Amino acid sequence: MNTDEFRKYGYYLIDWISNYFENISNIPVKSKVEPGEIYRSLPQLPPEEKEDFIKILDDFNRIILPGITHWQHPNFFAFFPANNSFPSILGEILTSAIGAQCMIWETSPSATELEQLTLDWLKRSIGLPEEFSGVIQDTASTATLVSILTAREKYSNFSINKEGFQNNKFRVYCSQEAHSSIDKAVKISGIGENNLVKIEVDDKFSLIPEKLETAILQDMENGMQPLCVVSALGTTGSLAIDPIEKIAEICQKYSLWHHIDAAYAGSALLLEEFRNPIKNLELCDTFVFNPHKWLFTNFDCSAYYVKDKHSLLKTFEITPSYLQSDYDRRVTNYRDWGIQLGRRFRALKLWFVLRNYGLDNIKTILRNHIDLAKYFAEWIENQKNFELLAPVNLNLVCFRFKPAEYEESEINDLNKKIEKNINNTGKAYISHTILNGKYTLRAVFGQTNVAKRNIDILIEEINKAARSL
Ligand SMILES: *Cc1c(COP(=O)(O)O)cnc(C)c1O
Repeated sequence: MNTDEFRKYGYYLIDWISNYFENISNIPVKSKVEPGEIYRSLPQLPPEEKEDFIKILDDFNRIILPGITHWQHPNFFAFFPANNSFPSILGEILTSAIGAQCMIWETSPSATELEQLTLDWLKRSIGLPEEFSGVIQDTASTATLVSILTAREKYSNFSINKEGFQNNKFRVYCSQEAHSSIDKAVKISGIGENNLVKIEVDDKFSLIPEKLETAILQDMENGMQPLCVVSALGTTGSLAIDPIEKIAEICQKYSLWHHIDAAYAGSALLLEEFRNPIKNLELCDTFVFNPHKWLFTNFDCSAYYVKDKHSLLKTFEITPSYLQSDYDRRVTNYRDWGIQLGRRFRALKLWFVLRNYGLDNIKTILRNHIDLAKYFAEWIENQKNFELLAPVNLNLVCFRFKPAEYEESEINDLNKKIEKNINNTGKAYISHTILNGKYTLRAVFGQTNVAKRNIDILIEEINKAARSL
């Protein structure tokens, strides 16, 4: 493809993207293809001869697009969103055009310094103190693994990196509602799943701090070494907030590492009314949240903060001679801040988003999403056949269909059917979780452009699905 063709197809694609967003409400939100359908409809070997770009685009429209679930659809209420925005998309275009590999400062000084700047902006805006240093990781899962590895090294005097595990005594704690990425991290870090202690939660699905302290004391009595607590600032199931203030005190009392997983809800710390009641946030060792979930920034972009930068670097840095440069003493080389060597220029899209929206607009949209959840929750509360299954935190509503004429044992299946029926219409997409053994429907109102009319569509589809049972 030459520059003239690139220009032509580039304009074409910008038109395509604009049309996509203008018409996205009219396409089915969840893909309806069957497993293997897309694979089978494409040739089994790559072409020997060059193919015309228009033909490739045509196949994209005809074959690939039907296999896409539209995460930017305003009726996407499932999981947590991975929302984006026009300034973010434009930032990604430039990132891919520049195509820089930003492993060290020298390989693109702007990439490193813009990453420092945008993460400092966010840090100051969510109320983390200056002593924290930020780095963009691909995902919260990676950030949590990096945190647990850093804790492992700091508390073993950096011996496990050298010697490997001799006789593991480390224990890691999180709530029963914590994210599966913590299970993954203890597996990968060699600490082992059996040494992840899941602490009971209260009726709001938040970790019970007294139970945490009891577990720590018991482990110490049994000769184990409590290492780290991972608190959830917004669980995936119900957005429950663990008692950060008390967990921080316990971590201080027993000298434990404290990682806060705020993957989704972290964006809400931009709002004073959410941030101010949370005390002792600044006492944590590490903190992660995902601008790629609820901050209009294309996947992937996970903001990871660490207080003891020295231990992080000591855990990860490896400097073969070909990566040494004259600048090393004066600059940040982000290759030492995590697992991967090669890094994308992710800060650019985040910078575009923060500047083109401005904090005021961002806060207005987040508050609007929270109001939409209240509107939907009020509707649920007013229905005699529906009930809420968790407190409504931020913009997530956990609910179920519970008509009086059915036995409790039948209710789970009914709700599975409702979920399936709604999702099969293509009009709206919700997901589920299990809370206290109950099959729980989840609707999240965090899509960039979600509005009241979209909630009304969801309500209509819920009504239809319930009537059809
Ligand atoms: C989404 C989520 C994660 C995982 O996020 P990734 O960036 O996809 O790894 C971790 N913890 C919580 C609480 C989440 O909601």
